[in-house]
Amino acid sequence: MTWFAAAGRVLLFSALCVFLGWLYGYPLQALALALAYVVAFWLYQIHRVQRWLQDPDRPPPDTFGIWNELLARLYLHQRKNAEARKQLQGSVKYLQDSFASMRDGVVMVDAQGAIKWFNQAAESLLGLRYPGDTGQTLTNLVRAPEFNEYFLGGDYSRPLQYSLAGERPIHLRVEITHFGEGERLLFVRDVSESVRMEQIRRDFVANVSHELRTPLTVISGYLSTFVASGGELTERYGKPLRQMSQQAERMETLLKDLLWLSRIESEQRAEAQEQVDMTGLLQELREELAGTYPGRPVELELDCTQKILGDYRELYSAVSNLAHNAIKYSPDDSPVTIRWYSKGDKCIVEVEDRGIGIDSVHIPRLTERFYRVDDSRNSATGGTGLGLAIVKHVVAAHGGELRIDSEPSVGSTFALIFPGGD
Ligand code: ADP
Repeated sequence: MTWFAAAGRVLLFSALCVFLGWLYGYPLQALALALAYVVAFWLYQIHRVQRWLQDPDRPPPDTFGIWNELLARLYLHQRKNAEARKQLQGSVKYLQDSFASMRDGVVMVDAQGAIKWFNQAAESLLGLRYPGDTGQTLTNLVRAPEFNEYFLGGDYSRPLQYSLAGERPIHLRVEITHFGEGERLLFVRDVSESVRMEQIRRDFVANVSHELRTPLTVISGYLSTFVASGGELTERYGKPLRQMSQQAERMETLLKDLLWLSRIESEQRAEAQEQVDMTGLLQELREELAGTYPGRPVELELDCTQKILGDYRELYSAVSNLAHNAIKYSPDDSPVTIRWYSKGDKCIVEVEDRGIGIDSVHIPRLTERFYRVDDSRNSATGGTGLGLAIVKHVVAAHGGELRIDSEPSVGSTFALIFPGGD
């Protein structure tokens, strides 16, 4: 029944009463009686609806006309809502049951940062206690400053890894995703074992490199003496001796790079933090390049006075690797430009060449150890394939990132982007 039909009924009823009243000589009194009856009836219906709404799971009371339709619709709506709520509760329960058995810690946090639920693994990994900590603010309970900064920072594009000091340090990896209306889901994993394995691998590489250095120095020393001595020996074995000497020299460079890389990677890197004057560093580098590559145009554009908090030797090795590459991978007379400037909140060192360039398919892999664009390129230039891996680690250790732009046959620009501009 439509609203118009209901209003029509009321009008019709009132008109009938007025007519009857008119027949007996009391039309106005009859109208007043009719309206009083309508109001009383509606009030009674409202009362029944109100009573029914206190327990809406029961079917609605029987009535008639527009009230019937209104109640039927309300009841349907109610049922649908209840169904949806049940389904949602079912899904949350299912998720919680699945998370409960996981070895990774899982914590559900509401939009205000209060804990809604967590599994048993989260209890031991984050030190939470059930049920007392439910409803508490997560950052008040997890004391690690790195964690709080990450959680409150809101940028969860990368996972966070942090360590808890102790007799046997624990390394945790945290990932956060958003769900629902501002709620967050935290996954915490104990990665101590893989961190330990990675450390063993690094130590192994560093130890092997170190052990190989002494015998190699002896071999390379003798070879250089043979090559330099002339006489009958060099007449007969000149070419192989020179080749052996060259390869021994390459191996020495390789070991030097490997040792340097493991030093940069090691967690106990010397805390040689100082305010590094990049202007002075780049001028020193240009002098070194002028000595190694006389006549090669190397332009220096210094537009920044900012200093970088870090390790001078590491920063020098990073920019030096980029500059050597720029020279190695471009024609003899082509210029190389080194820039130092600030942009927004970043300080940038840029090394630009107009050399052979790099196809874009190689760019994402360039910083992997021993990755080369092609072997012929490498044997011609005598590189070790570790240079860019060193650069990447140095810049990451200084809180920055490496950006590579390159186009084959046009040239390349390698940029070290550090936080903290003007
Ligand atoms: P390498 O010792 O071989 O130079 P790197 O790690 O420094 O090792 O560089 C990796 C590879 O990236 C190089 O082998 C080279 O193919 C490519 N590359 C690096 N810098 C440049 C550049 N400026 N122009 C062209 N190719 C480059």
